[in-house]
Amino acid sequence: MTDNRNKNLESQANQYIWYPFTQMQDHVKEKPVIIEKGEGCFLIDIDGNRYIDGVSSLWTNVHGHRKEKLDLAVKKQLDLIAHSTLLGLSNVPAVRCAQKLVKIAPEGLTRVFYSDNGSTAVEIALKMAFQYHRQAAGGDTNKTRFISFKNAYHGDTIGSVSLGGIDLFHEKYHPLLFDSFKADSPHCYRCPIGESFPECDLKCIDQVEELMASHDHEVCALVIEPLVQGAAGILLQPQGYLKRIRELCTKYNIFMIADEVAVGFGKTGKMFACEHEDVAPDIMALAKGITGGYLPLAATLATEAIFHGFLGAHEEFKTFFHGHTYTGNPLACAVAEANIDIFKEENVIENLQGKIKRFTEKLKTFSDLPHVGDIRQRGIMAGIELVVCKDSKKEYPAKERIGHRVIVEARKHGLIIRPLGNVIVIMPPLAISMEEIDRICEIHMMLYGK
Ligand SMILES: *Cc1c(COP(=O)(O)O)cnc(C)c1O
Repeated sequence: MTDNRNKNLESQANQYIWYPFTQMQDHVKEKPVIIEKGEGCFLIDIDGNRYIDGVSSLWTNVHGHRKEKLDLAVKKQLDLIAHSTLLGLSNVPAVRCAQKLVKIAPEGLTRVFYSDNGSTAVEIALKMAFQYHRQAAGGDTNKTRFISFKNAYHGDTIGSVSLGGIDLFHEKYHPLLFDSFKADSPHCYRCPIGESFPECDLKCIDQVEELMASHDHEVCALVIEPLVQGAAGILLQPQGYLKRIRELCTKYNIFMIADEVAVGFGKTGKMFACEHEDVAPDIMALAKGITGGYLPLAATLATEAIFHGFLGAHEEFKTFFHGHTYTGNPLACAVAEANIDIFKEENVIENLQGKIKRFTEKLKTFSDLPHVGDIRQRGIMAGIELVVCKDSKKEYPAKERIGHRVIVEARKHGLIIRPLGNVIVIMPPLAISMEEIDRICEIHMMLYGK
């Protein structure tokens, strides 16, 4: 019976689904891994195979799967109502969750605008910054443009792609996009200006300031992934960079939009990445970890000053004309609220510190391996860049699919991971245990040792 069921599921998986970010031509020839259950930091497929969830189900999971308090939050809310609209109407979990988000957010972010994924959270941030300057008392209608970074990833909708800087993902859509100013991203392993940290004294930021100085009259906002450019391959900003960006945004009257979609909710070792540099953005986008990896929810937080730019009499039409059908979904907000509560109840951030240390120690042991070019870690996020030659930093050609080969091999050892090109990402849930960290690293050691 189950044999039959599984065979059907496998053939239907290859027949009916068009997978995201996946070349389907090869994919449909492979036996699909079909997940049926989760348990803590493990995923279990229809054949009963257990895998460590090494990328926290695409960077979303926080406290593990089947976390009792989160399961319960969804079940309790289901007994009340699954969905009602937030367009002019409120609901209990949306209110509570917004209050809790403001409480934990960097100072000054006082208003919560919901949506349901990271890309829309960023779109909303863009439209807010732009519209503010169209109509607010302190606004300037010439400020219509954005500064973003090379290697940036802010999602897959057209506005977010316009700010993206990963050619592989974004170049094809170029004719559809609006222009933005792209600054070099700080990337110390392959420094775009050939310097090295800390002797460079963050020289790469001069270019950002030049952009601002010559275009501040037309730029409304700068968009940045604080501390870590995730999708680019876990590229790390050197210490002090984010703070300087904040100072420059203030100096040139440019809103700072922090895209904390990937780094928020503990991934860097603090609740939000901005906290590491004591930075408060004007707008912050949240998604991925916001529901602990349970349900699609996102939030864009804004300052009171920005919010005020949208106030006026009805007929002035200063309304923020944006909203999605499932915005503020009660089930998602209920689980987000429980997710935030767990951080406090279980001292999650505190308990994470020892795990991060252990992770650092284990990652260090990779550095002598012949094809490990760079190991980049921030908190519980790590990227291991594989290169043909360590001295020349020569990259593997795409044809070799080195990243893909590694992750297919990892599965055989009970580890699910996903590469970003030639960079192998490790980003387990915060709930990962010391033993599981050891096991993840052992498996990696085996794979790269080959
Ligand atoms: C994943 C991600 C997004 C997009 O989020 P989706 O929920 O996939 O739309 C945006 N910004 C960053 C930094 C991300 O990592």
